[in-house]
Amino acid sequence: MGDPQHDPVASTDTPDEAALVAAKAKDEGIVVCDACPVLCRIRPEKTGACDRYGNIGGKLARLDPFVVAQRTIDQNGRMVPFVGADWNGELVSGAGTFVTGIGAGTTYPDYKPAPFIVSSAVDGVDMVTVVTEGIFSYCGVKVKIDTDRYVGPEQAPVRVKGEQVGHVTTAEYGSQMLALGGVRHLTGGSKKEGVVACDTMLTLCNKGAVEMQVEGGAALTVQAGKPPIINGAGEERMRVGCGSATIGIFARQWQGHADEVIVVDDHITGVLTEHQAGRFLDLRPAGIRVRGRKSTPGRYFQVANPGTGWGGTDISDPLSIIEKIDPKTAWPGLRLLMVSTTGEHAAWFVLDGALKPEPAEMPEAIEAVVARIGENCEPALSTVIFMAGAGGSLRAGVTENPVKLTRSVRSALTRVTSGGAPVYVWPGGGITYMVDVSTMPDNSFGYVPTPAIVGPIEFTMKRATYAALGGHVDCIRPLDSLRAVERVKTISWPPANPWPLDPPIGNAP
Ligand code: SF4
Repeated sequence: MGDPQHDPVASTDTPDEAALVAAKAKDEGIVVCDACPVLCRIRPEKTGACDRYGNIGGKLARLDPFVVAQRTIDQNGRMVPFVGADWNGELVSGAGTFVTGIGAGTTYPDYKPAPFIVSSAVDGVDMVTVVTEGIFSYCGVKVKIDTDRYVGPEQAPVRVKGEQVGHVTTAEYGSQMLALGGVRHLTGGSKKEGVVACDTMLTLCNKGAVEMQVEGGAALTVQAGKPPIINGAGEERMRVGCGSATIGIFARQWQGHADEVIVVDDHITGVLTEHQAGRFLDLRPAGIRVRGRKSTPGRYFQVANPGTGWGGTDISDPLSIIEKIDPKTAWPGLRLLMVSTTGEHAAWFVLDGALKPEPAEMPEAIEAVVARIGENCEPALSTVIFMAGAGGSLRAGVTENPVKLTRSVRSALTRVTSGGAPVYVWPGGGITYMVDVSTMPDNSFGYVPTPAIVGPIEFTMKRATYAALGGHVDCIRPLDSLRAVERVKTISWPPANPWPLDPPIGNAP
């Protein structure tokens, strides 16, 4: 975040003093930015505290490009993204155009109409897209880290530059999860905590890398769409499944080549001959009992402590999880495979005459299945999901009767997108949405020093719907009028995203 180059407005000004200050400011060529509650007084040719607005030639100007996405029609009549060098980035007539909220600007207070309310015709139907850059004090980032390595205890604080910016939350299948940002870290702690939390979210949402430390856990480097780095080591593989699932997937491929297979996993360690998959295949019980708590046959919890060793446990010697070998059931020469859920760790043993596992050279057939476990692991990535509430005063920039917008979104008559990317709107009250930042154009996000995150949001609906929900219809402008907006920048529509106007949006009842 940049250094402030503004003078805050003194809150103690009386109306007379405020008028004097305003007159003096005018004399000095200062402009007051009213796009957020900070109300920066910006000197000539300087920028405000967030660097989004500046005083250009004595006028307040939004400094970043206003992003419009376009796609065109190929020879088969299909809409496709622009490609090649024959497109100069200007608005193209007849192309599919979608106006994003990126760089659109913000209105404050919210009762002013949104900065751009744009009409367009789609297959002969009049549509309206209302765009703004929402200022979100209520927002956070969920980070999914594909790894079974232990990053830290659930609820452990996550720190950046020594400040708590979030915590470890419930792990998901094959992934560790972090919940970062949120209103409590933005507003409820020290000023530094709020600034660092905001900066962390901003960097992650703009697809940058952030180094963080989990209290009592790992040092992490996280970046959207990139492999996570855990304690300095880049993670490569997302596990194929838990230990039990790995047994289920590969049981038949081990049959005849191994007498027992133990898949080491921090959550659910699998033991082939006890497991339902082994029983189904009529495998002979091997009599090898692992440590931990038995959940169901062949599935064990807590065989070791969590860590960064085999299968997300703290072990480096797989034999350490064997509690006992039953001499009535096991036999000399028994072939035992121990493997992790990624195939990254694997060891082959044969029981000697005293039923002690002795390391041995792994047979080719077993090596092939271990390799297949690795082959079935997806690349480990970090995923950054921005989550925010657009169900508050932001709605007043869209309509005079905000609850009608909420109801319209709920009934799918109004489509919400963020930077043109699809969002998931949570059920229940409000307009609480989530968006995968990797589907959005680069640098879609900004901040204001209140602190809060600034994110693009678009509401698209039929013109009749917009009128019915009390929209600011007198502020609707045609799409073509954007040609007069100097800072419009067109980008090629990201082909992986659905076109925001497909499928067609329904009619108001
Ligand atoms: S922080 Fe940015 S948006 Fe807010 S008043 Fe200052 S320049 Fe304007």
